Amino acid sequence: MVMKSNKPILVTRSSMPPFDEYTEMIHNMWENRWLTNMGNMHEKLTSRLAEEFEADHFLLFSNGHMALELALQSLKLDGEVITTPFTFLSTTQAIVRNGLTPVFCDIDPVRFTIDPAKIEPLITDRTCAIVAVHVYGIPCETDAIEALAKKYGLKVIYDAAHAFQVRYKGQNIARYGDISMFSFHATKVFHTVEGGGAVCRDFGVYQRLSRLRNFGFFQGAFDGDQLGVNAKMSEFHAAMGLCNLRYINQEIQKRKNISECYDKILRKVKGLQLFPDIPELERNYAYYPVVFLNDAPKSRDKACEDLQKYNITARKYFFPLTSTFSCYKDLLHPEPTPAAEDIAGRVLCLPLYASLSEEEINRICDILLN
Ligand SMILES: *Cc1c(COP(=O)(O)O)cnc(C)c1O
Repeated sequence: MVMKSNKPILVTRSSMPPFDEYTEMIHNMWENRWLTNMGNMHEKLTSRLAEEFEADHFLLFSNGHMALELALQSLKLDGEVITTPFTFLSTTQAIVRNGLTPVFCDIDPVRFTIDPAKIEPLITDRTCAIVAVHVYGIPCETDAIEALAKKYGLKVIYDAAHAFQVRYKGQNIARYGDISMFSFHATKVFHTVEGGGAVCRDFGVYQRLSRLRNFGFFQGAFDGDQLGVNAKMSEFHAAMGLCNLRYINQEIQKRKNISECYDKILRKVKGLQLFPDIPELERNYAYYPVVFLNDAPKSRDKACEDLQKYNITARKYFFPLTSTFSCYKDLLHPEPTPAAEDIAGRVLCLPLYASLSEEEINRICDILLN
């Protein structure tokens, strides 16, 4: 008999640094009154994260979405962008809001990332870029994507919102592509409450992106070159990031233990497809996706409903596909993406956060399997 939870279990729960550490971090601001606009905290966090990403050119933003939207703008793109429909809506919105046309490419059904073999047939003389997503922190097939980009002269932008501290083939994930975007939203593995970042390969792109983030100002004046916005990170957000960064290794270790707890139980169950086994991958345990195949104990929708009856919220990330949104219906004539459609109908992300207990994991699995 599974007990109904008295406190609800949500799909995620933000980690917080000790309260006193945060107040100590922001204490100085009551003296210096420098609250935003590239203050001391902002500059410190920028250099700490540049180190973390092993990046020469790194910028902080008010959120991950603006980092991505401005990243696309900074590359001065025009035409069609090949991308995945199996993502958070931000990825597709950033493309469309730049006046670009998303061309949806199917995903690899095991890896959930864009399928490089399906990209080439979609390339036309209007294609300018590939926007790929390291979904759930699973790296895209970066070598194959880079080869295509070279062959056809395309830019590559990675939505690495889920991939903080992921390493692939011995490299930091941020080192792939022309630009990699990160989200530091409260629900992500590393967070600044709201926040985002971008790693750029090219110094010129970095300079443009830096101006776009601050209304297009360059060295204190507007030179009229680029229409910018306000996407700066405040000192309070940067301070939260500096505090959280002290605990990030502990955070990821706890998430690893929890994921392994789930694995131990769910690996033995027929019909469940778990996180893919990818060589040369160092994970960050950001999400725990489970795909309910035909011979699973129950369907994805039934599993999600049953959990909710016990006050446990799992999430159908990412359902529906962004290519199906009604706001795009006059704009797009999407190619069919059957693998993405199939996975979107079967996948469920189970609760995963540092303070989830073994007892709670057992309870969640009991509900899934009975
Ligand atoms: C969270 C997320 C974003 C947007 O980041 P915000 O910081 O919330 O603006 C973009 N893409 C993906 C895949 C995300 O999960």
